[in-house]
Amino acid sequence: MSIYGKAREASERFAERRKREDEAPRLHDEVPGLRTLRLEVEEQRASSTVAETKHVRIVVVDHAPALFVLPCGDGDCRDGGHDLTGEILARLRHGATDFTVEDRCYGSVRDVPCGRIVRVRIKATVASAR
Ligand SMILES: [Zn+2]
Repeated sequence: MSIYGKAREASERFAERRKREDEAPRLHDEVPGLRTLRLEVEEQRASSTVAETKHVRIVVVDHAPALFVLPCGDGDCRDGGHDLTGEILARLRHGATDFTVEDRCYGSVRDVPCGRIVRVRIKATVASAR
């Protein structure tokens, strides 16, 4: 693919993501009482048992969309990623404040399934019940 094609594809993907985020319900509507949310993201290749990368994401609850979609950490992966939205929202709605979700990438790298694993530890604080 030409450089121009790749750039256009990336910008289309970005626009699509923006659209999804704009259309998604807000996190504070989906999980009333949620105060803070912190995600510790760990990634690991399918063939490895050691976590490769780890980063922390702080979610600004007041403005954030109720959408937890992480891109695949492998730059060669096509159509991959992790959609953890349903699972994370369900756990938060049930009042969980410290839990881990795991997902396997559904994309492919050079025609082989990617299978990269992402593990997210979620720590939330909620307003105390009245
Ligand atoms: Zn992938």
